[in-house]
Amino acid sequence: MKRKILVIEDNEQNIYLMTFILKNNGYEVVQASNGYQGIELASRDKPSLVLLDIQLPVMDGYTVARELKSNPTLADVPIVAVTSYAMVGDREKCLEAGCVGYITKPINPETFVAEMEKYLSSNNNDSE
Ligand code: MN
Repeated sequence: MKRKILVIEDNEQNIYLMTFILKNNGYEVVQASNGYQGIELASRDKPSLVLLDIQLPVMDGYTVARELKSNPTLADVPIVAVTSYAMVGDREKCLEAGCVGYITKPINPETFVAEMEKYLSSNNNDSE
């Protein structure tokens, strides 16, 4: 079965790039361009992993991560922050909010899938 990745990102180019790379690597992709939509789609689709932009309109990625983690049916879904924030402390903020890890923008097409899969492999006990 194809693994489903939920991409929550508001930047067109990043959405395009991540979707392109993931599909080329055999993943199914679901996209949301804001946090509310992301939470809705996560509840509906129960993805294998969430790629979460931190700098999102209206509801920031930290809030989205906390919301997802507070939902018992989604608490096991790994959330990987994808963000250009490079300041000291941001990584910790992501982890505190419930993210399992961090991928830095700009996205490197050579390493992106391998970086993501580090976090997927820790979640092999999916019931589906
Ligand atoms: Mn953004």
